[in-house]
Amino acid sequence: MSDLAYPYEAPASQALFDRAAAVTPGGVNSPVRAFGAVGGTPRFMVSGTGPYLTDADGREYVDLVCSWGPMILGHAHPEVIAAVQEAVARGTSFGTPGEGEVALAEEMVDRIAPLEQVRLVSSGTEATMSAIRLARGFTQRSKVVKFAGCYHGHVDSLLAAAGSGVATFALPDTPGVTGAQAGDTIVLPYNDLDAVRAAFAAHPGEIACVITEASPGNMGVVPPLPGFNQGLKDLCAENGALYISDEVMTGFRTSRAGWFGIDGVVPDLMTFGKVMGGGFPAAAFGGRADVMAHLAPAGPVYQAGTLSGNPVATAAGLAQLRLLDDAAYEKVNAVSAQIQSLVTEALSKEGVAHTLQTASNMFSVFFTDRPVRNYADAKKQEAFRFNAFFHAMLAQGVYLPPSAFESWFVSTAHDERAVARIADALPAAARAAAEATA
Ligand SMILES: *Cc1c(COP(=O)(O)O)cnc(C)c1O
Repeated sequence: MSDLAYPYEAPASQALFDRAAAVTPGGVNSPVRAFGAVGGTPRFMVSGTGPYLTDADGREYVDLVCSWGPMILGHAHPEVIAAVQEAVARGTSFGTPGEGEVALAEEMVDRIAPLEQVRLVSSGTEATMSAIRLARGFTQRSKVVKFAGCYHGHVDSLLAAAGSGVATFALPDTPGVTGAQAGDTIVLPYNDLDAVRAAFAAHPGEIACVITEASPGNMGVVPPLPGFNQGLKDLCAENGALYISDEVMTGFRTSRAGWFGIDGVVPDLMTFGKVMGGGFPAAAFGGRADVMAHLAPAGPVYQAGTLSGNPVATAAGLAQLRLLDDAAYEKVNAVSAQIQSLVTEALSKEGVAHTLQTASNMFSVFFTDRPVRNYADAKKQEAFRFNAFFHAMLAQGVYLPPSAFESWFVSTAHDERAVARIADALPAAARAAAEATA
């Protein structure tokens, strides 16, 4: 590769980006896709097959984003596509109950012991929003505890940043969220049980729930320290609050039963999305039957959706989950481990300070030599090195998440050829990271 400098040519993507910017704010329908953090032209993809994506300029990339997790079997898996084609031919939405949504709910409940009942929705955001409404309705309390650096979708009350000091009220993180919406949210540092204890002490009888990513992947991969999730669960139980484990990213990705399958901590409510939709908009929340019984029409807490349990989305999700047996997880975990060691080896060889953190087959590389335990730690990394690394990989046909604060994702389709292409690209990318300046 002769020229790893950016921005290098991606004329067809750039032309689409220009067209998009005229009709869509920032040219994208979800901000991270705009390459704002790394700069350059976002790649407009036209097709995907197995571990590869092809962009509008006809360049093929090894995909290490996998649609931010859902494509755990790779792109256009023949059996998932067949299930979708079969479903779509029978009609795309009925606005009535159907068997597909029952089968998908059964498959989920079957995999995760504490998941007694689920309600299907269309996005992870809807799942967390509804779970919080239900927790408030069930406990008849207002306040919600969340952790800095954990992302739960763009729910108003969860787009809040930490105020000064523990147990102070949160501040809106974005214009459009009111002080009142953010004011019922308490934002605490991740992996800090003392902070949670202090919040419960400061607000006796007021906290409806604690919501946490089961193992955070939205500040980069920052797994819970041993005992942290169990500690949250215990503090919630002692204080009459619900423990909500957000498994939108980890669910059915980190194991057959998601992160619950790894740490075994029993949540009151859980949220899902990404993998369970097989690349379609399907998500869910669920948990204890006595809590879920408060949801309409069984109970008084309202929640609904025109396309909830959509027959095409549920067919895709069910087909994907049925293919995700133990052998599939072994395969994803093995290829993930292989890529992790190649990355570490390449960066170490160039003397680039880095910390690779994992949560099963999810992993990310922080450009710092210190362990990252929370969002404040994550922000201390040298993100400018990631940006150089990212563009060098992109120039060599490897598509990484376009931000230093994201997990990398692999699939069962990442085979020896795909891994070899990553291995070939890494030395130059590691050199670019070493040479990068702030
Ligand atoms: C992606 C994600 C969400 C939001 O899901 P959307 O489908 O994008 O609305 C919520 N929580 C976590 C942990 C996520 O990773």
